[in-house]
Amino acid sequence: MENQNQEVPSETSTKPKRTRRPNKRPKSNGDESSSTKQTATNSSDAKVSASNAKGHIWSIEDFPVAEVEGKLRFHDLNLPDRVIKSIAEMGFEYCSEIQAETLPMTLLGYDIIGQAQTGTGKTAAFLIAMISDFLDYPLEEKRPNNFARGLIIAPTRELAIQIADEAIKLTTNCHLNVVTLVGGLSYEKQKIALETENVDILVATPGRLLDFARSRKVQLGKVECLVLDEADRMLSMGFIPDVKSIIRMTPHKETRQTMLFSATFPKDIQALAQQWTYFPKEVSVVPKEATNQNIDQVIYTVEADQKWPVLKQLIEENGGQRTIIFANRRDETRDLYERLRKANINCAILSGEVAQDKRVKTLKNFKDGVIQVLVATDVAGRGIHVDNVELVVNYSLPEDPEDYVHRIGRTGRGGETGKSVSFASEDDAFMIPEIEKVVGESIRCEYMVDTSQ
Ligand code: AMP
Repeated sequence: MENQNQEVPSETSTKPKRTRRPNKRPKSNGDESSSTKQTATNSSDAKVSASNAKGHIWSIEDFPVAEVEGKLRFHDLNLPDRVIKSIAEMGFEYCSEIQAETLPMTLLGYDIIGQAQTGTGKTAAFLIAMISDFLDYPLEEKRPNNFARGLIIAPTRELAIQIADEAIKLTTNCHLNVVTLVGGLSYEKQKIALETENVDILVATPGRLLDFARSRKVQLGKVECLVLDEADRMLSMGFIPDVKSIIRMTPHKETRQTMLFSATFPKDIQALAQQWTYFPKEVSVVPKEATNQNIDQVIYTVEADQKWPVLKQLIEENGGQRTIIFANRRDETRDLYERLRKANINCAILSGEVAQDKRVKTLKNFKDGVIQVLVATDVAGRGIHVDNVELVVNYSLPEDPEDYVHRIGRTGRGGETGKSVSFASEDDAFMIPEIEKVVGESIRCEYMVDTSQ
């Protein structure tokens, strides 16, 4: 997808026709495209800045970030102080590329179609826009708790939980509530949350959300901001009919803000993205050819029965490295897990058959370094946000070549270097050209000699 960030004389460059959002933010020089250069004023909520134990009122001066040529600071976006404070506490200083590309437009109320993978900072990109908007435009009317203001739909439970975690961090300094509705976790607890808390930001997977929405336990008729994350994955997992039903329950696209993100844009997603958004700005921060630039990728061509000894050797040689091994089927993950365990390798499984609460715990242990090796299937491994994954192994090549990009994207995050090793045997080597087409480059192949025999 082209980067259409610049103003171009096309229909998509027309200003949104919203009535409540135009000119919502003071512009320093009247030129919207240069809003990235606005200086911080943040006067709007100076009074609400939280004070610390000694009575010191936090202000943006407590968060000095030097101006750097070519980098956009969060200071430069005129965000509410309460949001800036959370950003400072999270340790962010400069906008990532997707944030720098989208925030100046989303803060003005534009819809966005964004091509970006996990690891680019897209979660904070849409959350900061949504939270800032809700703080700038507090509700004027009293509503029942269960009317959602912001709705974020994600394809997997793991991803939804991670988005909610980031939303909770970004709202620690304001009174916006985050509610998560995902399958596999207690329905009752989620129902109680809807009854007792204001649903300011709702993060949900499609199936469970639809259950709650159809029984009117959650109301979507006043949603102001809708985010569809990993739209391509929603398509491949068969969620589009559910998502369509959900979107029909939200206000018309002219009166809500819609942000749609996807790593890839197959034709169906392109069409849906246009259908669901209103004069969207299109942004792409991961041109295909640049994808995975900082990941050293290698394919080992092996006999099927060489895979295990080669894997064992690889893990032992890379002693202690945080590793994710992807397999295509659950029984393969189980088998691998057993072998790794018997080889005294500290490991765990992340697949669809593992109960949700266990999966959340496993992911936490992996993040905390308690577990070294994670054996995962594509669905369960999707959207895992763990920094410092040094090695990704494709024990089998994925059946869908797009999954290859998602899998290896678990390493080399945030500009770090990473390594991916893929096994190709007689069963799946035919996939290599397809994968190379998606990656946009040829991948180094090495013929493995099994030294253990
Ligand atoms: P995401 O693409 O949303 O999965 O984000 C990947 C990781 O980058 C997450 O751990 C975020 O907390 C982190 N992150 C997001 N924005 C920034 C930023 N501007 N500076 C530093 N880290 C960030």
